[in-house]
Amino acid sequence: MKKLIAGNWKMNGSLAANEALLREIAAGLSGQPACAIAVCVPAPYLAQVHALIMATPALSAIDLGAQDVSSQASGAFTAEVSASMLKEFACRYVIVGHSERRQFHGESDALVAEKAKAALAAGVTPIVCVGETLAEREAGQTEQVVKRQLAAVIHTNGHCISEIVVAYEPVWAIGTGKTATPEEAQAVHAVLRTQLKAATDHADRVKILYGGSMNAANAASLLGQTDIDGGLIGGASLKAPDFLKIIAAVP
Ligand code: PEP
Repeated sequence: MKKLIAGNWKMNGSLAANEALLREIAAGLSGQPACAIAVCVPAPYLAQVHALIMATPALSAIDLGAQDVSSQASGAFTAEVSASMLKEFACRYVIVGHSERRQFHGESDALVAEKAKAALAAGVTPIVCVGETLAEREAGQTEQVVKRQLAAVIHTNGHCISEIVVAYEPVWAIGTGKTATPEEAQAVHAVLRTQLKAATDHADRVKILYGGSMNAANAASLLGQTDIDGGLIGGASLKAPDFLKIIAAVP
């Protein structure tokens, strides 16, 4: 399976900064990359980034993604963005259930599952984030937490589950500079793969990304693990040299 390196720009960027970042990435991307690449950008910049990708041959390997989606198709949901809107703006992916959404916006497992369903219905691939907090890891609850989070998505999406991407993002590793060791990450990825196998005959085609302070120095060892099918990259995706080094580290 081709690995996927997806940047999560979070709430960063400006028209000028986005263009400069993408031009630097374009200059550094040589030939056909070994992996699939995506950038998940703030909603107001989807059109700009799509236009830049279309206009720049060196960026043609990059897919566009959003960072959140409404669980609703349309209607009186002020400020929400629907999956069909993301589709119209050429999004291939949308992140759902990022820990910053779960933590700061109270998103429940059930809501995240509904968001994944709305994305799939519109033909947009949800990147479903799961992961434990530090307290949960220290209490020995890692497996239980990620299985509960993924179970909600499996329950709501049935056989479509083979169409999602999963991102294992230990909350304690996001933006902290602390990374799970390759062995720690692989252990959780193996648990998630087993859970997917029980739900679908096509679990082997579900990409399970690792996210949490992945950088140029640790990418190769993480991406070398059997069940790590790529990375969801926050901070390092905002620096072209770092993002390019992670792409180049894909085995
Ligand atoms: C993220 O926010 O999805 C993430 C992985 O962030 P960082 O790489 O900065 O830890």
